[in-house]
Amino acid sequence: MCKKCSFLVAFLLFFKFNYSQEHVLLDTINNEVFKNEIEQFYLVQSKKTEAIISQLENYKVKEEMKEIFANKKANFLQDLKNRKYLYHKEISPVIEKIFDDIKAKNPNENFNEIKIILALGEEINAYNYGEGIVAINLPLIINVNDELELSFIICHEIAHQKLNHVFSSIQSQSQKGNSSEMIEKAKELKKVKYNRSGLAKNEVKNFVYGARRFSREKEQQADSLGFVYFRNTNPKFVLKSVEALANLKYVDKDKDSLTSKDYHEIFENSKVVFQEEWIETEDFQDYYYQTNTGIWNIDSLRTHPDIDLRVKYLKNTFKIDESQIYEFNKLNYISLKSKSKYDEIVMLFYLKEYGKSLYKTMILLKDDKENPILKKMMYDNLFMISEYKSQYKLNQCLETESPYNSKSYNAFLSFIRNLRKATLSQIISIYEY
Ligand SMILES: [Zn+2]
Repeated sequence: MCKKCSFLVAFLLFFKFNYSQEHVLLDTINNEVFKNEIEQFYLVQSKKTEAIISQLENYKVKEEMKEIFANKKANFLQDLKNRKYLYHKEISPVIEKIFDDIKAKNPNENFNEIKIILALGEEINAYNYGEGIVAINLPLIINVNDELELSFIICHEIAHQKLNHVFSSIQSQSQKGNSSEMIEKAKELKKVKYNRSGLAKNEVKNFVYGARRFSREKEQQADSLGFVYFRNTNPKFVLKSVEALANLKYVDKDKDSLTSKDYHEIFENSKVVFQEEWIETEDFQDYYYQTNTGIWNIDSLRTHPDIDLRVKYLKNTFKIDESQIYEFNKLNYISLKSKSKYDEIVMLFYLKEYGKSLYKTMILLKDDKENPILKKMMYDNLFMISEYKSQYKLNQCLETESPYNSKSYNAFLSFIRNLRKATLSQIISIYEY
């Protein structure tokens, strides 16, 4: 068993025995069944893709696309094996229920060739992988306000799939890369010595595995078709579609922060007396200074200008009535979100993002000091950070300060980076179990 897997098994055992019967992270019971089902599904889908590619006329495009889709398949199956995609006993049924509603209310559409699956990934994101797969990253579940917002995001992603955007984007990039126009351009730029189709291939690969950004035009198409699915499903709540988009604008902002008082409370007990100087590093002060000058005032950088346009487009196109506000019961979803916070910090640990996992753990811990999961995650993350630090590999598990981060997160990063080894050991001892 690899090290990663044994970590995971340790978690599962921990969560099973020490936390509660009701919330088990990364459920293994159904995971083999789930894995086989998704693998079989993907293999069938991929056969269909191969058949379509083999019909293409341009030889170079055909060969390039064969290779891209073969890599894409291998990548997906490997991720599935590594548990990037999984079945979660509580979250997955919520996703399934939302999708079942969409199917029932859009009886003229065939959604049988689409699977919506939960994914481990730190971005607050959902994406269409193409070939029938829509993935929803765990942090998105926690960051939408309610199941209606999630429903709209799902509608948007399945619209990308119904419009076959992944395939058509890859195809058009490949055609562009192999077009005579592109080849002429390359000659002009005296780039003939490079392998032209190789250059294009890299661009396509970035698209397939990278941010998966579609063109604005394709986003608009997915918003429109997605809106129709959503309106059919939730006719009373059409306003929720634009609210889901507007909320996306703020999701990556820190909703909570750590103050100097929090550091004191988290890192002080009978064994350890917290020293003010631990957080009074030069860098720590610098951030305050720079924030005041506005250089690090980053909120404007974090907003997504496209979102305003998308909201405006939907409102205008579908004449969304903003006065139509209906109440609905979101209690169940709120409770799911609150339990899933623990899944997120364990997920980050699993992804070896010890810094992020520790930061999120500290934020939860300040209001829940005796929680055994949080205390354990404090120790596990601090321990791993100290291991990486002594091997001079801290950058692999701890982000660097950046103007894209919140002030509180930058201060945390600076605090961890500046801790001396002796201090770190002292702090770790507080949470030893
Ligand atoms: Zn999209």
